[in-house]
Amino acid sequence: MARFSDKVAIITGSSNGIGQATAVLLASEGAKVTITGRNSDRLEETKKLLLNAHVPENHINVVIGDITQDTVQETLIKTTLDKFGKIDILINNAGAGIPDPQGKTGVNQSIDTYHKTFELNVQSVLEMTQKARPHLAKSQGEIVNISSIGAGPAAQVANPYYSIAKAALDQYTRTAAIDLVAENIRVNSVSPGAVATGFSNVSRGLNEEKSKKLYDYLASQKECIPRGFCAGPEDIAKVIAFLADRNASNYIIGQTIVADGGTSLILGAHAHGAKMIEAV
Ligand code: NDP
Repeated sequence: MARFSDKVAIITGSSNGIGQATAVLLASEGAKVTITGRNSDRLEETKKLLLNAHVPENHINVVIGDITQDTVQETLIKTTLDKFGKIDILINNAGAGIPDPQGKTGVNQSIDTYHKTFELNVQSVLEMTQKARPHLAKSQGEIVNISSIGAGPAAQVANPYYSIAKAALDQYTRTAAIDLVAENIRVNSVSPGAVATGFSNVSRGLNEEKSKKLYDYLASQKECIPRGFCAGPEDIAKVIAFLADRNASNYIIGQTIVADGGTSLILGAHAHGAKMIEAV
């Protein structure tokens, strides 16, 4: 029997990147999936990928909309229940760094940017968790949140509110995990490092060509990504699937699994290696 046979999953932010790869992975291993995002063309692309992976059309539910909107959240829950009868897995993946409209960084970023960043990366996760909770309690289900190594402990001056939001999300994961474990709902999260997706386009304003150059550069510098390559969305989807699979990860509660090719293990000083000694 396939790993996710008879499971129903909602994957937010599945019109692109990590969420899209996760929807394809879970569904190709048997899950019925609700896919969602604002961009209808890209959602259609996800649907095509699912059909190409031989996922039956009646295993796919599509909801177009902004995850920060209450009506969209309600629609996600309601249409999933109407179409599939239950919810087993909630993947809170939608997220982004919201660029400051005036290009400001650090402590000068606008408070409006802060609100928008938190609405998407934190508040929508809280709200989806509240709405899915009774259904996950019934099915004894799983929640996987997608955080980032940007959450710390390294400082993030370029886009601080995004990092602060992900740090808040990590604490929410731990708190929700303990609150919900009594109902037999497991909550965990994944913290990716650099992953080649649409993220740098949205969060850094880079086009496809410049994004690729950035990922190639990071991969070529051992102090940036010791593993030597930039992850693809499928690399992160596999970690998400592990945490969404009770058979595989039943005893893991409230943890954040870092999947960053070693990025967060390098201190600036260590990156200089033997050159540090030569310098003295
Ligand atoms: P992408 O930009 O490729 O995908 C982001 C997804 O989120 C899209 O499907 C997008 O859909 C959706 N989304 C964004 N804002 C909204 C919104 N307001 N309402 C509904 N959906 C929304 O990026 P990734 O796949 O890389 O990002 C997935 C997660 O991974 C995010 O939480 C991100 O913070 C995290 N992450 C990514 C890293 C990376 O290097 N790529 C590193 C660390 C963490 P649409 O545009 O159609 O609305």
